[in-house]
Amino acid sequence: MGFGDFLAKRMKRSMEKNIAKSTLNQENIQETLREIRLALLEADVNIDVAKELISKIKEKAIGGYIEEGASSQQQLLKIVHSELMDILGKEVAPLNLSKKPTIIMMVGLQGSGKTTSASKLAYYLSKKQAKKPLLVGLDIYRPGAIDQLVELGKKINIPVFEKQKQNPLKTAKQAIEFAEKNNHDLIILDTAGRLQIDKELMNELNDLRKTTSPQEILLVVDGMVGQEIINVTNEFNNQLKLTGVIVTKLDGDARGGATLSIRHMTKLPIKFIGEGEGFAALAPFYPKRMADRILG
Ligand code: GDP
Repeated sequence: MGFGDFLAKRMKRSMEKNIAKSTLNQENIQETLREIRLALLEADVNIDVAKELISKIKEKAIGGYIEEGASSQQQLLKIVHSELMDILGKEVAPLNLSKKPTIIMMVGLQGSGKTTSASKLAYYLSKKQAKKPLLVGLDIYRPGAIDQLVELGKKINIPVFEKQKQNPLKTAKQAIEFAEKNNHDLIILDTAGRLQIDKELMNELNDLRKTTSPQEILLVVDGMVGQEIINVTNEFNNQLKLTGVIVTKLDGDARGGATLSIRHMTKLPIKFIGEGEGFAALAPFYPKRMADRILG
């Protein structure tokens, strides 16, 4: 069961139960909204987001936008769809690739899927936007992290710049020089992760940010983690001024609700989602597709 499917199922059930009735009236609108609220909470949508969503739908549905009668069923669906889109951010949030070379800094906690996503993103942009990426391994702390990136790079035929035993700041500077000399128009920095956010990690990431002035700072979060991704995102954002979020592992049995809450709770766009371990399992996040999927 993938991202949104859980919510989709619950949402459909609560809609069908009430909307199947021949007419929609004040009473069964209330009942439907109550069930939609439950569906949202069960899908792990943040409680503030669920409340806001319901109150907006209610305002429109009861505030005269819906005329009582059979066709009102479709109208309610439309309202829910449009409010969901509002919460999800409406438009696709593209990467800012205008500068040459573009520097993308990937940050995140250990195990979030950062290294995998760095290589997937390099692969995606080389295929879809004809970019010539350079991957840069900067995680000198986790044993095997740089080797993992080198292995991934080999598989997708994208070079990896790394200096295992060198200060990451120095390596990043050298990587930029290397990229400029070798015509790479995209540099993806795979920075160090930690099990928890700590001052040392943030200081290093901040130094890297100042040294490399990246156009994009993308936080990679594990979609299976649930509500905690909101706190993690806010903390990283406070320290680093993120430009967006990549949510991974949405192919798992994640209920998806936390992902749905990110935009509203952090004001940051989800730029990509990861839905598998393969190179091609990374795609831009389309709010409309998500809303369509949730409402079946
Ligand atoms: P890092 O410590 O943040 O660099 O995490 P890794 O990139 O090493 O990923 C941790 C694990 O998650 C690896 O086994 C990846 O294959 C796996 N992974 C990453 N993204 C996804 C995804 O979208 N779906 C699934 N199923 N697994 C993923």
